[in-house]
Amino acid sequence: MTEPTDHLSLYRRYRPQRFGEVVGQDLIVATLRRAVAGGRLGHAYLLSGQRGVGKTSVARILSRAANCLSPEDGEPCNRCESCQRILQGLSLDVVEIDGASNRGVDQIRRLREEVAYVPAGSRYKVYIIDEVHMLTGEAFNALLKTLEEPPPHVLFIFATTEPHKVPATVISRCQAFEFQPIAEDAIARVLVTVAQTEGIALAPPAAELIARRSRGALRDALVVLDQLGHAGEVTEEAVVDLLGLPPLALVDGFLDALVGRDADQALAIVADLSTRGRDLALFLEEAASRARDRIIAGESALIPVAQRLIELRGELGRAFSRRLHLEVAIVALCGPLRTGAGGPRSPGPAREAELPPPSTGDGEPRATPQEAMPPRPEAWEAMLQAILEERVAVAAFLSPAEVMWADGLLTVRLPPDCGYHYESLLEPAVRGYVEATAHKFFAPLLAVQFVWAGAHPKPSLEEGARILAEALEGRILGEGDDGSK
Ligand SMILES: [Zn+2]
Repeated sequence: MTEPTDHLSLYRRYRPQRFGEVVGQDLIVATLRRAVAGGRLGHAYLLSGQRGVGKTSVARILSRAANCLSPEDGEPCNRCESCQRILQGLSLDVVEIDGASNRGVDQIRRLREEVAYVPAGSRYKVYIIDEVHMLTGEAFNALLKTLEEPPPHVLFIFATTEPHKVPATVISRCQAFEFQPIAEDAIARVLVTVAQTEGIALAPPAAELIARRSRGALRDALVVLDQLGHAGEVTEEAVVDLLGLPPLALVDGFLDALVGRDADQALAIVADLSTRGRDLALFLEEAASRARDRIIAGESALIPVAQRLIELRGELGRAFSRRLHLEVAIVALCGPLRTGAGGPRSPGPAREAELPPPSTGDGEPRATPQEAMPPRPEAWEAMLQAILEERVAVAAFLSPAEVMWADGLLTVRLPPDCGYHYESLLEPAVRGYVEATAHKFFAPLLAVQFVWAGAHPKPSLEEGARILAEALEGRILGEGDDGSK
């Protein structure tokens, strides 16, 4: 079968055209809509976050909303002359610059000459600079000169996957938004809707599996649906085949066998995978990731298993025979209980970071451009205490955080070495719980925003093992489970 030459990828065809259609970034789009509707747009916005979470879509929507002739409650109408010109790429007043290609020196230089002129027919001259962190130092300097005294008719929208590479002098002149990885259930819902519209039969387990493996990037999920959807039907098996993944039921069976110390069953699963040529390292990664989900859901018995799985994942790369190495490990794991073996090497990381005093003038400036205050310390402490009594794991994820409180927004910022904490807090169930609890201690609370100052979109599972081992194991096992069942 040949494809029509004008075939547009699903991702492009379903790109959101209005703020209301953006998935999983409710706080950000609500804030931008309010700014547009109230005529209070800033001069420069920095949109950061991993790839595939909607930064460019939001930038383009904002460029239309700012210039729309008849905006609707902060949304672009997408029908007026201005919206249409921008949508068709014909507007001279919306310029997209890719920071990654030729690194922008010439374009930024041209930009500096152009910004002085009023827009050719729009309210704002909008510069969208994608992957802004790739600009050269020279381009940044040129940009900075413009940002220092921005003409009133200019709107900069910067997007980046690596905000830590953007100079602080640039960040401090922007309103910054950190896009979150999109929740799995939200991605699954989009997949189901798109499949229905496209006449693709998408089995619910297949949608969930795609959502889970896309790691918060809606674009990646739609690319998988695109690749498999041509057949008209997408089954879980097809997804498993395309991505080379083990089915969830098999992963759960493996974990159950390890917890139940059923070495025979666990070995049978490994043998089966091995004869079918599956990647055992990938299987372990899936098993460790799944174990984490189940631990967060309350299965503390899996903690020692998860720890060992993560260690194994690292060992397997160096093993002479992956299968043999895994089999030996399974037998060892299902043998005498290993709790306490090679216990925590250091006192837990929790509490290592005390809340810093509000802006001492010394040291490095923190990149928090918004005006925000640390919350009343007693409110945050009381909240942590309440969570500690109810869900010790969640308290451990929150304890290294620095918190800010402004305009009804509680910002929970995790330091760079706490990627695992951050990711765990984004699990929908955990997040919902923290939000519900925050409402009891902060009023009026509109939303809780989790941000992470780290570099990588996906923290390592090894880090997770360390935290689980050091921060959680002793306490959870100490609560009614003495590990000697
Ligand atoms: Zn319009």
